[in-house]
Amino acid sequence: MEELVYEVPVWWIPSRMAILKGYAIAEKEAACPSCGSRSLRFIRRTVLEAQRLKWPHRVGGDEQVYSCDRCGRNVVVKLIYREPEPSEDVFSEFCQIYEAFLDSCSRGGAPNYITFSIRAANLLIDLKEHDEEAYAKALERVGKDLNTLRSEMGSDPKTHSVYRLMEYFVSKLPPEEFEQVSKQLEKSYVESLVELRNREGVPPSLQELVEYLTLLQQV
Ligand SMILES: [Zn+2]
Repeated sequence: MEELVYEVPVWWIPSRMAILKGYAIAEKEAACPSCGSRSLRFIRRTVLEAQRLKWPHRVGGDEQVYSCDRCGRNVVVKLIYREPEPSEDVFSEFCQIYEAFLDSCSRGGAPNYITFSIRAANLLIDLKEHDEEAYAKALERVGKDLNTLRSEMGSDPKTHSVYRLMEYFVSKLPPEEFEQVSKQLEKSYVESLVELRNREGVPPSLQELVEYLTLLQQV
């Protein structure tokens, strides 16, 4: 088995963000060491016990196993958790992971709506539980992005895919989060989203959104 090792800054334990960072890394940076393919398929993840003295927590990392779609070898992506550096902050970390998912979930023409929305909702849950300021900034960013994408709509297929991903996610957001995101959007657009939401129904919380989408994914 090939092994790729990355360090991940962690602000709290357990951290949904740290696990999601692994997926972001695997999809964005990791290539199969045998054949160079970037098409890695997730198989399983296991928790790594802390071994390094500098790390005060019992959980030391996350190990994710992927299978290379081209040559069939297994690739292990090992994430070693560490304390954040003074130059690192939670919101920037959120932005990096979220941007990686916008990219990976909009590849190849058909946007991966459900996967993106589950991941984005999990990122927001993590921020909401641990860092209210970063949570508010993240919602603002989501609203601003959707607003910008909407004005660029149709300029190229990639932008269009990303726009569709964002719109799907925002239309499914629970009332509290939707209200925050809506502040960045035009009133007439918010009204059309509200109409869609009333028709299809929305979950009362981010956790229930994740559960609902996970069920959809399994169908
Ligand atoms: Zn390979």
